[in-house]
Amino acid sequence: QLLSWGKSWQHCCVLLQAQKEFLNYGGIGVSVLEMSHRSADFNKIINKTESLMRELLNIPDNYKVMFLQGGGSGQFSAVPLNLIGLKEDKCADYLVTGTWSEKAAKEAEKYGKVNIVHPKLDRYTIIPDPSSWTLNPSASYVYYCCNETVHGVEYDFTPETNGVVLVSDMSSNFLSRPVDVSKFGLIFAGAQKNVGCAGVTVVIVREDLVGHALKECPIILDYKVQTEMNSLYNTPPCFSIYIMGLVLEWIKNNGGSAAMETLNKQKSSMIYDIINTSNGFYECPVDVTCRSRMNIPFRVGKKEGAETLEKEFLAGASKRGMLSLKGHRSVGGIRASLYNAVTVEDTEALATFMKEFLKEHQ
Ligand code: PLP
Repeated sequence: QLLSWGKSWQHCCVLLQAQKEFLNYGGIGVSVLEMSHRSADFNKIINKTESLMRELLNIPDNYKVMFLQGGGSGQFSAVPLNLIGLKEDKCADYLVTGTWSEKAAKEAEKYGKVNIVHPKLDRYTIIPDPSSWTLNPSASYVYYCCNETVHGVEYDFTPETNGVVLVSDMSSNFLSRPVDVSKFGLIFAGAQKNVGCAGVTVVIVREDLVGHALKECPIILDYKVQTEMNSLYNTPPCFSIYIMGLVLEWIKNNGGSAAMETLNKQKSSMIYDIINTSNGFYECPVDVTCRSRMNIPFRVGKKEGAETLEKEFLAGASKRGMLSLKGHRSVGGIRASLYNAVTVEDTEALATFMKEFLKEHQ
């Protein structure tokens, strides 16, 4: 998902760079794919990736960074295994605002008591007002998913937890905007949306939270083991870590997380503006207060039998080279994912198509 459509400038920088050095990394005569993960050359790659990550997010020194396998799902499983035992009660507070936080809460129930801090939602289209949350002061941590990829619900604020450790799944909006890491106990993010390709998940954890894993925690998910071994307890996803390093370099050269935020605001407003002024032809179910800048779900021509028009919309988009616009199978409709690699020009192409399609069918 480095790009959804078009030949973005990230495509040119990152993929062409990877292609250029594919057979002969850094002039040493081997590919990153052939390197030992214990070699000095790979050590340089992983250290460079970590130092770019620290620089871009201004990560304080008392935080560890890990590059692990298992994806976002591996990490929402690892969180309770490592953190629910922080306090004797083994309770955790969860905000459930979409598919991914729902799955995470279900996983945590295997290891302790889970409290959903707000009234249950029938539909994932809002973030319940913090005044309606009942946080448990003896919870080991408070968990939320910062951007619900399937439903297009994004927090534009950091939840206040009255001192309880805050954990966030930032898989689908990581480095799309600045974040104050010091407010979090732990942040994790699968790389495949905004910072690389599938295979590696970044975990940023405050030092004092390491070393509390339950005894049943699998060793490869144990933060103490992995931080002590610089993510090299077992073979790491070497090539994905290398690609992440290239993407981080690209983000740095393009102005860092603040510049990404400016672009992502501009891109998402372009699409929301069309939805908002389409007289109901395009409909986004998400409340305006929490509409995601990364994933914009919408229906087409709802009043006249959405599915036929949506098929036509997707076929027309595909003809123009715009791929992956089909909504997640659990919600249907269309979903425009505007990750960092999607350019303003790519977004303009979608906006133009949406306007033409509206004119033709309204
Ligand atoms: N969390 C979020 C927000 C996601 O978007 C995803 C996947 O799309 C996941 C977790 C699960 O990630 P993975 O497929 O890498 O396990």
